[in-house]
Amino acid sequence: MAEIKNCPKCNAIFNYNGLRDVCPKCFKEEEELFETVYRFLRQRENRAASIERITEVTGASESLLHKWVRKRRLHPAQFPGLGYPCDNCGTLIIQGKICRSCTDKIKTDLKQHESNMEFREAVTNNNKKTYLSNRNK
Ligand SMILES: [Zn+2]
Ligand SMILES: [Zn+2]
Repeated sequence: MAEIKNCPKCNAIFNYNGLRDVCPKCFKEEEELFETVYRFLRQRENRAASIERITEVTGASESLLHKWVRKRRLHPAQFPGLGYPCDNCGTLIIQGKICRSCTDKIKTDLKQHESNMEFREAVTNNNKKTYLSNRNK
């Protein structure tokens, strides 16, 4: 299922095959950067390097690092300084799409929403009953 796309990095036109989200040239550059980052992280003293430090040393962009962690090419269990931003608030996380505090918040909001719905339903049902009983008089 090939499709012509513009590379989001350099804007070149390339054949998108569903595997690479950038053109072959940028893909190669990314792979080289990945090698550099991986080689850097594999050294014991760099294991826990922060994303800031990695970008500084290797020249890889933050978003690239995020992407590799998301794809599990770089494993946060192995390199504790790594993560990617929560979709909601930007805190670094290592799994899922949003951080724990946002998850909790969404759950609370949802519960609130549900109890509002229940309340509304109860009111509606009550009105119906009243209406029916009035009509049956
Ligand atoms: Zn490109
Ligand atoms: Zn969050």
